[in-house]
Amino acid sequence: MNIKALNTWITKDNEPLIIAGPCGAESEEQIMQTAKALLEINKIKLFRAGIWKPRTRPNAFEGVGEPGLVWLTKVQKQFGLKTTVEVANAQHTELALKHGVDVLWIGARTTGNPFSVQEIADVLKGVDIPVFVKNPIHADMQLWLGAIERFSNSGITKLAAIHRGFHYAGKTKYRNKPLWEIAIELKTLLPELPIICDPSHICGNRELIPGVAQKALDLDMNGLMIESHIDPSVALSDAQQQLTPSALKELLDQLIYRKTSSQNPECLDKLIQFRNMIDEVDDELINVLKKRMTIIEQIGQYKKEHDITIFQLERWQEILRTRSQWAEKLDIPREHTEKLCQLLHEESIRIQTEIMNRK
Ligand code: PEP
Ligand code: MN
Repeated sequence: MNIKALNTWITKDNEPLIIAGPCGAESEEQIMQTAKALLEINKIKLFRAGIWKPRTRPNAFEGVGEPGLVWLTKVQKQFGLKTTVEVANAQHTELALKHGVDVLWIGARTTGNPFSVQEIADVLKGVDIPVFVKNPIHADMQLWLGAIERFSNSGITKLAAIHRGFHYAGKTKYRNKPLWEIAIELKTLLPELPIICDPSHICGNRELIPGVAQKALDLDMNGLMIESHIDPSVALSDAQQQLTPSALKELLDQLIYRKTSSQNPECLDKLIQFRNMIDEVDDELINVLKKRMTIIEQIGQYKKEHDITIFQLERWQEILRTRSQWAEKLDIPREHTEKLCQLLHEESIRIQTEIMNRK
């Protein structure tokens, strides 16, 4: 995929791209006041505002539509800020292009719909506009990748992904669970694709935003999209999660911007030493894993000869319980041990099934 780095068209060096603005454009006054206050922070490179709001139920605030695009043109002219809006169909896209929006973003609900994505990508054929693709609501990597590919196939090169968390059926303090491992997997699959984190839609409330924003930077994400409203208490959508521009400034000042490496030879040397130690431990781990697999092959063979089932519920429950207890004594979190046991057990079942099926 031909993807341009952010610092070739919007940021300087390796600085994170900071995008801020209200969830939705509500009035000219709200847009102009918010943009003016955000400009004063001096760190905001892109001003966001939803013009068409995808709402779960009808009769909620669904955005102001085209007039909002005129206000965004005023933001560009008066404050020199670049603008970005969400487009969800061909008509939105044509209107956004007509009004000179600088960057388009694809919302989570749209990414999950290949028909809508393709219709937008078709409008953008031959148009050199940046496109940011939010992850789909559900943790489906193929849908996320598919949407990114559709824009790439239309010739879009200024591409980025936005990680906005995922729907999660279990208990979680987040509005959308971050599932950081999925963002890391995307980075591994497409190393050249910038990933921007949207802590606002992950958290759903103001209090959790600093922790998530810092974690995104610590995972070397390439920017943050944070909702900011001149007066969140009267916001027509996502009131709980929007920050005032001054709260946003405070947050951005408090974040620690770490580097991926160091220039200091002593520090680099120390990192090498730690990594060597980790390599040695991992080597031991792999040897232990092989030892476990060999025993599993033996027990599989033995069960086959004696017509004993592969899976026994009591044994599996005992493994889960005891390993978690052993690990907890060493301050290893239960959740981590359980995940590891699940992986080991899955592999054990696979090996034994293969043995049972052997002629
Ligand atoms: C938004 O950015 O305002 C929005 C609707 O986000 P998402 O598509 O992530 O829900
Ligand atoms: Mn929102």
